[in-house]
Amino acid sequence: MTGPDGTRPPAGGQPPSFHTMWAELAPVGRHPASGGYRRHAWTGADADCRTWFQEQAEARGLTYETDRNGNQWAWLGDPLGEDAVVTGSHLDSVPDGGAFDGPLGVVSSFAALDELRRRGVGFRRPLAITNFGDEEGARFGLACVGSRLTAGQLTKEAAHRLRDGDGVSLPQAMEAAGYDPEAIGPDPERLARIGAFVELHVEQGRALDLTGDAVGIASAIWPHGRWRYDFHGEANHAGTTRLADRRDPMLTYAETVLAARREAELAGAVATFGKIAVEPNGVNAIPSLVRGWLDSRAADQATLDTVVAGIEAAAHEAAARQGVDLTVVRESFTPVVEFEHALRDELAKILGGRVPVLGTGAGHDAGILSASVPTAMLFVRNPTGVSHSPAEHAAEDDCVAGVLALADVLEGLACG
Ligand SMILES: [Zn+2]
Repeated sequence: MTGPDGTRPPAGGQPPSFHTMWAELAPVGRHPASGGYRRHAWTGADADCRTWFQEQAEARGLTYETDRNGNQWAWLGDPLGEDAVVTGSHLDSVPDGGAFDGPLGVVSSFAALDELRRRGVGFRRPLAITNFGDEEGARFGLACVGSRLTAGQLTKEAAHRLRDGDGVSLPQAMEAAGYDPEAIGPDPERLARIGAFVELHVEQGRALDLTGDAVGIASAIWPHGRWRYDFHGEANHAGTTRLADRRDPMLTYAETVLAARREAELAGAVATFGKIAVEPNGVNAIPSLVRGWLDSRAADQATLDTVVAGIEAAAHEAAARQGVDLTVVRESFTPVVEFEHALRDELAKILGGRVPVLGTGAGHDAGILSASVPTAMLFVRNPTGVSHSPAEHAAEDDCVAGVLALADVLEGLACG
């Protein structure tokens, strides 16, 4: 039987269902002890995920290709056609990550295409499913490498300088995986052929659980940044130095952590000190240096500025009181990403206004691409909100609701 789009579904019966695809992918890169996923870029587990993607493409008679940056594409219709509708996400993971962050979007994309074929709809725009490489940045420390390179937000030179924890460079890792690291770089022609990119993703918070909805639409990705706080004090003996004589940077650090919590709570934002380095790091020594990294995110720039300024002021006040020298350096910053309103409204219309619109504090490939392409996101309920952990979860009924919502969206955008 020839499909309504003119392509012939492969012989051998139905393509695998969501349930079957999910079960196939489940063991790939899962660590037996932790139960978490270690699908890091350009490793064996990543290669297995990529093979799975290619097999899914071929099983559906789609045109398979990798782009110059190692992102995978499966095309229904002409890969060189204009105004394509693209959906997909990523298959890599953070260290000991969950099963859903990334793969839910890729598996749902294939399942949504199957659903559209089942509905017998005709396609008037090319449709592609993607797997963006190295989204989590678990190995080389920079998130969204595949989409950043494509969008021209990461240069080839900067990418070539990336090293993993063992000193292996990104070019070495790509080459070992059979990809050409000299080819990487911006791909404006490819992006120019995309009319809309829709990424389905497991929610990484509890907003949908609280509203009681299985699926939501993203409004924006919160602005976020990282700041390094260096508290310099005076190393001294933990047993013989009178409390009054101490210049203890740990004390100032501790007050700063409490200030971060307070400021974030007041503003409805989030602020986290999740990483710390201590010198000399001895049990019986007052530290000479405490270095703490602040990660803070808020719904808008003004709120984030207020939170960050409040934390810094409190830290300086405590440092002055305790004879500690403080320097604060902003190490990275990502401004707010407002998803295109026209596309977002179109999604809401297609889904009949039955889904909530919500912001998120997590970064995504969709956020990177939104600078170049009209972009939207769908979220699927995560009942605990836990993410980047083996405990990350979405109920199968909600996953199926996500597939159907994505199919509705793709049908509304690409068919008829
Ligand atoms: Zn993700």
